[in-house]
Amino acid sequence: MGLLDRITLRPPPAPPPEAIDRNARGEFEITWPGGRVAILPAFTLRDLCPCAACIEEGTGKKILDPATIPLDIRADRIDPVGSYAIQIRWSDGHDTGLYTWELLRAASGF
Ligand SMILES: [Zn+2]
Repeated sequence: MGLLDRITLRPPPAPPPEAIDRNARGEFEITWPGGRVAILPAFTLRDLCPCAACIEEGTGKKILDPATIPLDIRADRIDPVGSYAIQIRWSDGHDTGLYTWELLRAASGF
């Protein structure tokens, strides 16, 4: 019996994307394992920001008014957070949301 047989490997909640790119229109192109590609407009992802300023903690009620998001919103910076999420710095200065693989997967419609 090898060491690995005695270790309970918990599967990660959601597998990470294989790639996160941005196209010329500023849309996110997220490639998932298996080769499925989701194209998500920056506005959509900004609107889905899960941070405490955009979603009320406890109730999960959305605070963010989509009408306040600039229509030409774009991601200025994307940083990895651990191995479970990315942090996006938006052109409106907002950067507190952590976009987990689960969130991105749900946004991708998978
Ligand atoms: Zn937010």
